[in-house]
Amino acid sequence: GFRMGIVGLPNVGKSTLFNALTRTAAAQAANFPFCTIEPNVGEVAVPDSRLDRLAEIAKSKEIIPTRMTFVDIAGLVKGASKGEGLGNQFLANIREVDAIAHVLRCFEDGDVTHVEGRVNPVEDAETIETELMLADLESIEKRLQGLVRKVKSGDKEALQQERLLKEAQAVLENGKPARAVDVDAEDAKAWKMLQLLTTKPILYVCNVGEDEAANGNAHSEAVAKMAEAQGAASVVISARIEEEISQLDAEEQEMFLSELGLEEAGLDRLIRAGYELLHLETYFTVGPKEARAWTIRKGTLAPQAAGVIHGDFEKGFIRAETIAFDDYVALGGEGPAKEAGKMRAEGKAYEVKDGDVLHFLFNA
Ligand code: GDP
Repeated sequence: GFRMGIVGLPNVGKSTLFNALTRTAAAQAANFPFCTIEPNVGEVAVPDSRLDRLAEIAKSKEIIPTRMTFVDIAGLVKGASKGEGLGNQFLANIREVDAIAHVLRCFEDGDVTHVEGRVNPVEDAETIETELMLADLESIEKRLQGLVRKVKSGDKEALQQERLLKEAQAVLENGKPARAVDVDAEDAKAWKMLQLLTTKPILYVCNVGEDEAANGNAHSEAVAKMAEAQGAASVVISARIEEEISQLDAEEQEMFLSELGLEEAGLDRLIRAGYELLHLETYFTVGPKEARAWTIRKGTLAPQAAGVIHGDFEKGFIRAETIAFDDYVALGGEGPAKEAGKMRAEGKAYEVKDGDVLHFLFNA
């Protein structure tokens, strides 16, 4: 599955947000109930109203949403990369995520101490980015040293790694994150293997005050501008409100949201933004037993999409029977869609589309 790491300075609302995410009614109502894998790791259902629609039409007994994993990564403070260095556990946690949700304090509250004694989310973002860049520089140096012997012997892989590490080093020494490096298609895999922290895509999460959840404030606007300039994404959320919402049942939630002038819970927007940031999309498998959503990267071909369900589906892939979501709904289900000629047989080269309802045929 796909993993988002929650980072940020102390006291910005990371734990509040993590608790809200993992205790939300949506997470609990889902058929795999929310599970704590480790104290700081939680799985969350990806909200998708299309799935409910499909289940209704097919009269599916079970509805199983697709999941996203969130990891609460505490331990980033100014100067963290100096002295003791960033903890190994911390670095391992952050290397393993596909993207970073960076929580920024955008709320004013004299009762909650800010580590810098002032609210300035744009500077806070720079502080954290600087620590991550310093951590990358340190690991690049170590890795370059580790490569010396292999490079001397002319090892091709080592030479490629060295070249990429040096490119990243030059960019970082210039005060820019490693994601600023232009990487050729043939280097993409080796580049990803370097697992540099500042190559991860970023979603800035503006944690605003309770009465600012609908429209944000000047701080969140400044963050949105910064995010745009970086090609990053941003969302406005009030972690405190989300925590309250997460304790309500579905009906109460709706009332509470409309009182606040919100159309949907901020967490739903956050999860969706993560989905977009990672270029993810959803396909469905639908039958009387269950309606289920599956996550793939955009551009995934049918055999690899089948492989998300089971490795054997990919290995023995024959073809995919495909109905577009709109056809499935407009025609009223699989039978009528088939009769109307809207069920297509697609082969190995088929690029799965967001919302496809699929059956896979495979050799066992
Ligand atoms: P962490 O250190 O980043 O994990 O921060 P916490 O989630 O523990 O939050 C630090 C403090 O800020 C707690 O007392 C929270 O209740 C408070 N807090 C979090 N979000 C908000 C918010 O939106 N408004 C206000 N006023 N306080 C908040």
